[in-house]
Amino acid sequence: MERTFVLVKPDGVQRGLIGEVIARLEKRGLKLTAAKFLAVSNDLAEKHYAVHKGKDFYPGLIRYITSAPVMAMVWEGTNAVAVVRQTMGATRPWEAAPGSIRHDFALEVGRNLTHASDSVENAQAEIALWFSPTELVEWQRCSDDWIFGKN
Ligand code: UDP
Repeated sequence: MERTFVLVKPDGVQRGLIGEVIARLEKRGLKLTAAKFLAVSNDLAEKHYAVHKGKDFYPGLIRYITSAPVMAMVWEGTNAVAVVRQTMGATRPWEAAPGSIRHDFALEVGRNLTHASDSVENAQAEIALWFSPTELVEWQRCSDDWIFGKN
């Protein structure tokens, strides 16, 4: 089953939106595999956003992601990477589809509430960066066949 990495970023935590994000992912049918609430070190922030190093928004992005705690999670499900990106909405909230989290709760690209991996390959790398293998929980959900089942 495909897995993806999700963060509720500092603005989402400060605004009391952890539950809202989790509720939307759960209701969509995705299954929680790992979660932890943590303060992000500069080292972790720089590794996570290494691809953006050198861009004009990079220093502000590092300040933002280390400014307050985050909720880090792994979610799994059919096409989890694409489905979670769709649930989050476009990076720039003014371009996010109606009904997406960034559309419904955000205005600024620099305060866009969440992070979600943008490819299966990046999801694997981000999960390995943020979680140790023992923190990933394999479990049977009683609704699995009602959500993941095929005819
Ligand atoms: N970002 C920003 N200004 C920009 C572009 C991006 O502050 O002009 C921030 C924003 O928080 C975004 C993050 O950098 O979520 C990472 O950018 P990316 O393009 O990877 O978007 P995402 O994958 O988070 O949608």
